[in-house]
Amino acid sequence: MFPKYIELNGEKFEVVYERAKARTSSVRISGDKVVIKLSRFARDFDQDRMVVKFLKWAGKRISKVEKGLVLKPEYNDGGKVFTHNKVYDIVVKITDRKNNAARLKDSVIEIFLGRVFSEKLSEKGRGVVVKKLAEDLILKDQVAYLNEVTDELNQMHFQEKVNSCKFKKTRSRFGSMSKKRNMNISFRLLFAPREVFRYVCVHELSHLKEFNHSKRFWAVVEGAMPEYKEAEKWLRNNGFMLG
Ligand SMILES: [Zn+2]
Repeated sequence: MFPKYIELNGEKFEVVYERAKARTSSVRISGDKVVIKLSRFARDFDQDRMVVKFLKWAGKRISKVEKGLVLKPEYNDGGKVFTHNKVYDIVVKITDRKNNAARLKDSVIEIFLGRVFSEKLSEKGRGVVVKKLAEDLILKDQVAYLNEVTDELNQMHFQEKVNSCKFKKTRSRFGSMSKKRNMNISFRLLFAPREVFRYVCVHELSHLKEFNHSKRFWAVVEGAMPEYKEAEKWLRNNGFMLG
């Protein structure tokens, strides 16, 4: 009754079940996982029904994904990670060193895993470590690009002071702007189409003019990017598939 995997749109998704303290159960899609949180209060019969309902929802959601538009990063030996301005090649090496290490040379990311450490892990566990090490390097390498894009958009449309602009590895939101003018952009957007990335930057910069989501705010967004609704739609339909 509780499937471990489902295949949707020709792709395999792992289904993860979690116990939730909350009274309500929920579902979300995150990367290649469907995460179902089942309330502790739900009866077995209800749980079965909910799982069926949630998987149906996930299927609908995934069927809306525009195929081919998202190039999923491949964090494994021989894998490639496509960003807007660079393709990274991932090379994984097992070494006799104690610690794991990683370095970036041009566009090659070399990951060194300690033999003892690596042998203790499952393939999946190793994948998680490789992903984290590679992501950290890409994130650092792409900061210049992020600043370039936001500076350009800011100069063209806003002329506001921005205190800092950073990538964040958040899953919950694509961007934020604080009252102190610190801007955060989700690292995952590097794997979205360029226009979508630019839209989120425009959105956050627009908050320097209007610190809310009022009509006036959306007018500011539209002024800087008339076709912003397409990017919003793209994020709604595809955003959860990123990285
Ligand atoms: Zn906003």
